[in-house]
Amino acid sequence: MKKSKGVYFVLSAPSGCGKTTIGNILLKEVSEIVRSISHTTREKREGEVDGHDYFFVSMEEFQILVTEKEFIEWEKVHSSLYGTSKTSISDLSKTSDVLLIIDYRGAVSLKKEFPEDTVTIFLIPPSIDRLVNRIKGSKDSRVEELEIRLETARMELQHADDFDYIIENDILEKAVEEIKAIIYAERLKRNRKEKKIQDMLKERL
Ligand code: ADP
Repeated sequence: MKKSKGVYFVLSAPSGCGKTTIGNILLKEVSEIVRSISHTTREKREGEVDGHDYFFVSMEEFQILVTEKEFIEWEKVHSSLYGTSKTSISDLSKTSDVLLIIDYRGAVSLKKEFPEDTVTIFLIPPSIDRLVNRIKGSKDSRVEELEIRLETARMELQHADDFDYIIENDILEKAVEEIKAIIYAERLKRNRKEKKIQDMLKERL
């Protein structure tokens, strides 16, 4: 039974909770799911490919897309703009499911826009202490912003209620298995909506 349209799986989490790590494992180990590609105004770095890593656009082009309400969500990081375009995820969903690693605001607006096709998953750390240890142990250079990151994490954790699923990222392999279970179960749910049964009932021997 072929799906007519892919599902948008959204993975959100406060910074340092493991969404990049888990997202990369899922993309490698789950079939028929691709990562959404963001638009950005930042300079292309060496080795990056337009349309693969990002869609690189000018500030003017980005602003036009904002005016046309083309972005599910967009944000400014340092002096560059980043956004997830509805057209690009909709194109990807024609042939597979789409994994979006975006913040809780993006998750909420995607769910609002495509409630039937969006599944939102929120990752939480085992504890604030363990989150602090992971941030300190990560290669991320923003450890000096620890206090601000923790304050933001606390604020974001208050939005956990907006999500369909909450996964505690304690043991990495367990969290990955749980998310895979969500993906597989949701796919079956979607397939149930197909016209297959209707068509079967119309058949005459
Ligand atoms: P995010 O993308 O949410 O900011 P990362 O995926 O970069 O988070 O993870 C932050 C750090 O925590 C990384 O060093 C990563 O290797 C580590 N990490 C992620 N999940 C686990 C886990 N379950 N147990 C231990 N360390 C983890």
